[in-house]
This record gives sequence, structure tokens and C-alpha cells, in this order.
Amino acid sequence: MRPLKMVDLALERRFLGPRLEVALQAVLDHTQFIRGPEVQQFAQELGAYLGGVEVVPCANGTDALQLALMALGLRPGDAVIVPAFTYVATAEVAALLGLEVRWVDVSLEHFNLLPEKLEEAWSPRVKAIVPVHLFGQSAPMQEVMEFARLKGLKVIEDAAQALGAAYRWPSGQWVKVGTIGDIGCTSFFPSKNLGCYGDGGAIFTRDKALAAHLARIANHGQDTLYEFAEVGVNSRLDTLQAAILRLKLPYLDEFNARRRAAADLYDAFFADIAALQRPVRVPWSTHIFHQYTLRVLDGRRDALRAYLQEKGIPAMVYYPKPLHLQPAYRSAAYPPGSFPNAERLAGEVLSLPMHPFLSEDQLYYIGETVRAFFR
Ligand SMILES: *Cc1c(COP(=O)(O)O)cnc(C)c1O
Repeated sequence: MRPLKMVDLALERRFLGPRLEVALQAVLDHTQFIRGPEVQQFAQELGAYLGGVEVVPCANGTDALQLALMALGLRPGDAVIVPAFTYVATAEVAALLGLEVRWVDVSLEHFNLLPEKLEEAWSPRVKAIVPVHLFGQSAPMQEVMEFARLKGLKVIEDAAQALGAAYRWPSGQWVKVGTIGDIGCTSFFPSKNLGCYGDGGAIFTRDKALAAHLARIANHGQDTLYEFAEVGVNSRLDTLQAAILRLKLPYLDEFNARRRAAADLYDAFFADIAALQRPVRVPWSTHIFHQYTLRVLDGRRDALRAYLQEKGIPAMVYYPKPLHLQPAYRSAAYPPGSFPNAERLAGEVLSLPMHPFLSEDQLYYIGETVRAFFR
């Protein structure tokens, strides 16, 4: 059996075969490494995939979030609502821009923000909510959008872990996550569901004027050549990365389906283990399993992780500490105990290897090893 990894990019590379060299060679030959044609071609193809939205490529997912906050005109002293249980980037960019971060607790079932806690997180200074579609499925967006409408807030979706997942409105209409709020953000970090081979990111919006503004901020705030209309940043997707993403985008749905099949098999292995909560699949979203994340309910999460490690199975804790308890983000306003679900999850979650190229052998081995631990 092939040694296990959380994500096995060598197998993906084998799957892509010589097409990868062909795509890269084309860029090496035309030498437009910055703003080459592949960047706009990829933006158009991704926009079409997402159901016809504007896509502004940028340097990484963290920049995407920062550009979104800047383009929506958030100013120092404004506040944003962010889930307490997520990757740090979501809050970091808000803090960098001098915004106040107001945390909201998350669900013990689906790990995304709890809409019934939004009122508590709100203050008159709040200008935006940043729902995160954690681990591969959508946050409860109808409730988020309704709250935002009532309070006059902007919505920036962090779709870095859920590119390709679909959200179902109560009407039954399906839309891709990241296209629901004012702006959607994603990352093409190599381990993401659509990853490149370095850093990359993108921003989505249905609003053409907003897309133009985002593109201007990402290009130093430049209006016409050497006319700088506002203070911007330098955030670009490399042409080489765009060429890789163009090659991979047509496989995104298939890769996500393979992840789902792996999750189905894991689910079957763990169905009768009372100490494990399997990933809950919410009715309002497809799940594309960026992570397959268990809750270990009997207090033995770290022991299980060590046991798996010993058996050659990597497993990761995403995330071991909620953001309101991180040294960089602690404040007297949010002492320990403020967000009981986020704090509890930090001690219970464990993510197993998950990528489109897990073999049945590997999945059986992982499934049986986890079962052996609980016997
Ligand atoms: C990966 C990730 C980001 C940041 O993306 P980078 O490309 O690494 O900057 C932001 N938010 C979430 C939820 C992520 O998983």
C-alpha cells in the first residue's frame, strides 16, 4: 500500500501527465509571466463554472479577503463578524485594516457559524459578516443573508475550503458557494480542492463595477497608466499558476465527487462507533469534503491521533485553538468560555486523510485502524 498522506499531490501530478508540461511550456515560450493570457482565460472559465460571475484573480486567499474588505469601503473602527472557529486568515486581514473583529460561535454539528448567535455578535459598528464555508460545505446562507439585509451589512463569503460546493435556497434553486453574498473569496493553495502549485487566489462578484474596483485595488489602485486613484496593493495570480488551474478546473467536479465517495466509505466504517460524530451533511448544501472531520466525543482525540500516527496514518487537528483565544486576537471582551462550541470543537475534531486519489486499500486500512482503536 502506498504510504498515506493528508493530501497526495504526486498522484494528482501523475493523473495530469504530460499535459502539465505542455501547459507550462506554453507559458515559458510566450514569457508573459505576469498578466499573461492564461490569467484572464482562467478567470473567465471559473466565472462560467460558478454560474456567470465576475472573477478577479489575485495572489492568494488571504489577499482575496483583504481586497474584499477594502473594496467594500470598510474603514478603521468599523467592525466585522467572523466565526471563532476558522483559519486565521479570515480575521487577520480585518485586524490588519484596523477593523474590530466580533466573533460568532459555530455549530457542533456542521462547524459553520450559528445564525441565531449573529444578533449577539452585532453592534452598531458592524458593517460586514464573513461567513466561512468550513471543511467543504456551505454556511446557512439564507439566515446570514436575511440578517445582513435587516441590519444593512455586506456579506463576504470565505469559500477557500468549498470551491465547487453548491448551496440550496429554500426555493430549491442551487447556486455555487461564493456567489451568494456581495463578494466571494477563494484560495488556490496546493491542498485546496482546486489548488495550484504555489500561491493563488480569486474574488467573485456579480457586480461588474465592484469587480473593476477589486481589480484596481489589486493593481496598486492604478486607474490609467501611472494614475493612482486610491491606495491599493500588489496582488496577482502568476501566469504559470493560471495555466495549471486551467488544466485542473475541468476536473474539479470529478475530484470533489471522488472525495465524497471516500467520505461515504469512511462514514460506513464509523457508523457504529458511538464515540465518533461523523461529518454531518446539512440539507442546504452539497459537501465537497475539503476535510473529512470527525468529532471524538470520549475525550480520546489526542490518543486516537497518536495511535493512527503509530500505524502510519496522518491525522490533523483543524483547528486546535479558536481564534478568540489566540495570543494575537485575545481581548478582555472575549474571555475563555465566550464561545463554548468553538472551544469544545478545538478539543474534539480530527481530520483524516482526504484527497481525490485515496485508494480503497488505503481507505479500508484507515477505517479498520480507527475501528481497532475503539475495540
Ligand atoms: C486557505 C484558507 C485561507 C487563506 O488562503 P491562502 O491562499 O493560504 O492565503 C483563508 N480562509 C480559509 C478558510 C482557508 O482555508
